[in-house]
Amino acid sequence: MQDVDLTVVGAGVVGLAVAARLAAPGRTVWILERNRRAGEETSSRNSQVIHSGLYYRPGSLKAEACVAGNRLLYPLCERLGVPHRRTGKLVVASSGEELPALGRLARNGEACGVEGIRLLEAGEVRRVEPHVRARAAIWVPSTGILDAATLVRALAAEARSRGAELLLQTRLVAVEPAPEGFRLTVRDPDGELFRYTSRLVVNAAGLEADRVAALAGIEPEAAGYGLRFAKGEYFSVRPAKAGLIGRPVYPLPEAEVAGLGIHATPDLDGRLRLGPDLTWLDPGWRESPEFSVDASKRHAFWEAARRYLPELEPEDLEPEMAGVRPKLQGPGEPPRDFVLRHEADRGLPGWVDMVGIESPGLTASPALAERVAGLLADLLGSGRERRPRRPATVIGEEGIGRERA
Ligand SMILES: Cc1cc2nc3c(=O)[nH]c(=O)nc-3n(C[C@H](O)[C@H](O)[C@H](O)COP(=O)(O)OP(=O)(O)OC[C@H]3O[C@@H](n4cnc5c(N)ncnc54)[C@H](O)[C@@H]3O)c2cc1C
Repeated sequence: MQDVDLTVVGAGVVGLAVAARLAAPGRTVWILERNRRAGEETSSRNSQVIHSGLYYRPGSLKAEACVAGNRLLYPLCERLGVPHRRTGKLVVASSGEELPALGRLARNGEACGVEGIRLLEAGEVRRVEPHVRARAAIWVPSTGILDAATLVRALAAEARSRGAELLLQTRLVAVEPAPEGFRLTVRDPDGELFRYTSRLVVNAAGLEADRVAALAGIEPEAAGYGLRFAKGEYFSVRPAKAGLIGRPVYPLPEAEVAGLGIHATPDLDGRLRLGPDLTWLDPGWRESPEFSVDASKRHAFWEAARRYLPELEPEDLEPEMAGVRPKLQGPGEPPRDFVLRHEADRGLPGWVDMVGIESPGLTASPALAERVAGLLADLLGSGRERRPRRPATVIGEEGIGRERA
């Protein structure tokens, strides 16, 4: 007999959005999270930008889920009381040579379905952001900023209010097929092993998603799920200059670097942050993860940002924090799309993998949750009345979220 209808592995913003979307009266949903609090990993180590969907290949899941997620996220933040602001953003060309690339990016955004894109001349850029120097820019009105930690807390509260259980300090360690679905083994907060069966499983394990897929018997490299890791470091701008801009300002993405370029992003508390850059990490990084910021990069960050914010001085910058992108491609390889896949054809009906959910995963999270709901619609049914046994696990409102550095 199964214990649980649905298990979501990982209480980052994606897993929580899935759980909040799929929890329903009479349906038992457990969210497993290895850390003491939800959202402690990539979901609290990012730029907190509500992306528009400018950069991705038209028709890709990244593009579609970003554009759809952008439209879903504003009303979601409104409804859940998550601080956010639709600021719009500028992507700037600093020289005449960059104008063709700026035009290509604008056309790509339009092909992805991003609405309201406009090309601005230098004078128009100055009227929008007087401290920004640019030869021209793309204006993207649908971009915004949000408070990611509050979004995590709000989604966790929403999932729980619909009956989902958030099991903290509970790590999935083994998976076996079972007639009712999957027999899952978790290590609970006391280090004890606990087994139960779950009819459906959604793998939203972020930096561990390839390993969680491997627990189900999928060979990550053969399936194209093997993760590579790219660190992104941030510097904060000292308060006296934090008000230089009121909205995110991005350079053109550098083709040879797998990131968006060192951009300047204000947050809702009036701080201004530069970054992230991109450094490929050794594959062994996961064995002893660390998120330090290399203070010696100050000059390189200043060089990158002063092209469009010439009033910055190197001493305005302080090392702040870092996040790590779970990427499906390695250095020099072309970008890969998000993996969101029901693994029925691998003999795992009811198992959904979400792998390589790097940027714009925060923005895309509500749209990805809709897609998961679609994939599992036939298997979900309407839920059952029986309540499951619960493992002895510390679960508390106070345990959710992470203070930002
Ligand atoms: C530097 C950087 C900047 C970014 N900026 C933006 C941005 O501005 N806008 C945007 O839209 N996106 C941005 N992103 C992307 C966005 O942050 C991520 O796509 C998103 O947070 C991913 O959420 P997640 O839930 O998939 O992963 P995570 O937040 O990593 O959550 C996965 C969870 O799974 C748990 N877990 C793993 N293994 C197990 C296990 N075996 N058992 C139990 N639990 C487990 C982990 O502890 C973790 O809490 C950025 C990312 C980075 C790195």
